[in-house]
Parts: sequence; structure tokens; C-alpha cells
Amino acid sequence: MGRTEDPTVFIAHREGACAECGMKLDGGEWITLVEGDGGVAEAFCLSCSDLDHLVFLPRGDAALTRRAGKHSTLRAVVVEWNRRRKRYERQGTLVEEEALRQAEEECLADADVRARTAERRRERDAVADREYVIDFTHEILKAYPGAPPPRAAEIALHACQKHSGRVGRSAAAKGLDPKTITLAVRAHLRHTATNYDDLLMAGVPRKEARWRIADVLDAAEAAWKAG
Ligand SMILES: [Zn+2]
Repeated sequence: MGRTEDPTVFIAHREGACAECGMKLDGGEWITLVEGDGGVAEAFCLSCSDLDHLVFLPRGDAALTRRAGKHSTLRAVVVEWNRRRKRYERQGTLVEEEALRQAEEECLADADVRARTAERRRERDAVADREYVIDFTHEILKAYPGAPPPRAAEIALHACQKHSGRVGRSAAAKGLDPKTITLAVRAHLRHTATNYDDLLMAGVPRKEARWRIADVLDAAEAAWKAG
């Protein structure tokens, strides 16, 4: 690029006057400093520094800053003295408006690409979920030949929703644990083949309700297992 260091704009905290136009510089003015005669730094207002046509881009968006700077023929770094830390801190950059517009467009295009990537990932996940449900249904029917297939599918779907996202898919990747299948089937039968839910509604403690329905549940499970 062959460009020397970007000009620096200081947010001044001392009052003074522009060395060129004489404009009074109150505290908080944006200035450039140029070493004058006798090594004394002279302050110039932004207009006399030929930087007043630039727009300020606050720091914080690294990609936008980098791109805007790249497109800007002229740019300046804006710094402010931090009294507590005793150092100049970068507040942002001054860039050409057109450069900023171009940079914003590029960043938006990127965001669009990211959104599309996320959409593709969601679609992939949905396929993974569907495959998980199908696998799970098959496994249930293998272990419980007496289970009506729609009921097996219902159990599988519920299990998938319960472990939706990462957990469900990692479970799918690891292969289906027989214990997972048993638990899912028994949970389903507990609600559909016994009066467990009624007992809970009637205020029966969970542990006691489970004990009361144990025989009915075992029988229902055995019937499905037998086919
Ligand atoms: Zn001036």
C-alpha cells in the first residue's frame, strides 16, 4: 500500500485555538497535533487538518473497521487520553463515507452468508432428527414386537423431542442404548396403560404411585414384548 502511519486525531481536553484558522478549541474538540517551531506541538481543528469530510466509525466492530479502512483513501485514528490509565486509547476511526457504506454492504453480505449457513445446518439437523426417530422406532419394534407401530413412532418422536438438539443427535451417533428404549417405552405405558396420571392428580406421591401401578405396567410391557 505504501501508506505511512494513519494520521491521528486527538480528542483534546485542553482549551486552545487552531494554529491555522484561530478557531477557539474548547475541551472535547477533535484536533490534530503537528510539531511546530521549537518543538512545541500545535493544534489544528479537523477542518484545517483536511479531515472534516470524514465520518466517525466507533471502535467495536473489527470487520467493519478493517473493511472501511481498506476502502478509504484517507483515514485517521481517533484517540483520547485516559487519565486513569495514563495512556491514549483508540476510540475509533475517521473514514470516507463511501468507504463506510461499502464496508457495511460487505458485512451485510457476510451476515447473509452466515444466515444461509445456519439455515443449511438447521435442515441437516432436521434430517438427523428424522433419521433418529426412524431408527428409534425400528429399535422399539425390534425389542417390542407387540407394540403397534404408530405407538412406537410416537414414543420415538417424544424421546427425540426430549433430547432434542445436541443430546438427541449425539445419542443417535452413539447408537441407541437398550436402556433408553426400555425407559421410553415404560414411560409411555405408564401414562397410557395405567392410572398413574390419575394417581398423581389425586395427590398420591410419585414413589407410591409407581409402586401401585407396577404390576399393571409390567404386564403391559410384557404384552408388547411378547408380540
Ligand atoms: Zn482550523
